[in-house]
Amino acid sequence: MIERRSPREIEQMRPAGRFVADVLLACREAAKPGVNLLEIDELAHSMIRKAGAVSCYIDYHPSFGAMPFGKVICTSVNDAVLHGLPFDYTLKKGDLLSLDFAAQLNGWVSDSALSIVVGKNPDAAQQTEDEKLIKVTEEALAAAIEVAKPGGRVGDISYTIGQIARSYGLTINMDFGGHGVGRTMHGDPHVANDGKKRRGVPLKPGLVIAIEPWFLHTTDEIFTDDDGWTLRSIDGSRGAHSEHTIAITAGEPIVLTARD
Ligand code: MG
Repeated sequence: MIERRSPREIEQMRPAGRFVADVLLACREAAKPGVNLLEIDELAHSMIRKAGAVSCYIDYHPSFGAMPFGKVICTSVNDAVLHGLPFDYTLKKGDLLSLDFAAQLNGWVSDSALSIVVGKNPDAAQQTEDEKLIKVTEEALAAAIEVAKPGGRVGDISYTIGQIARSYGLTINMDFGGHGVGRTMHGDPHVANDGKKRRGVPLKPGLVIAIEPWFLHTTDEIFTDDDGWTLRSIDGSRGAHSEHTIAITAGEPIVLTARD
């Protein structure tokens, strides 16, 4: 079911978006060489407790998950790109880290993700490639937000993301993409990272969605790690991920998880 929020409800969703942005900023700042993924999870968890927020991940147990997630943030490193379950791993210079975080505050959810290169990679060429991949996800996200306006359809968002990926020679995985966001983390509609213009659900004021382009350097195929959660590229190539929760309005979309 597709739900639309009133302007008043969208205002009520802003604190959750701001909180999710603040947690990602703090975790991005903390993600230095020598820092353990479990420390990043603990930082996010402490911010949740302090804010009186509720984790969307800790008890999350969908059909594709082997067990409840048990952590509050996804930390996907290098060939891991989505659903990275934090584990006892110390970040190294040049790791490509994606952080994906969703939480509920005042009864409303926001969901957002970013990728960074940790420290400076001794392999300069790898660093350049990884930074470029991150930029492509950011460019696709910005372009998708640009078309998220009344009169358009969800397919316009998907098409925009897909075109940008293709223009950089990337291929697109259609299994995991964006989604409606509201009282819970995942609702309708599904927002695929590729599609056809003028198809799908009409974009109307009050529709709140997470848009989340993610790409891998040389494949679009993934497999689930033995931890039951972490999704890794089939060929070992690295991945990047950018996500914002946005509200469609009569005018410009509101980026609820804006980090500036
Ligand atoms: Mg997310």
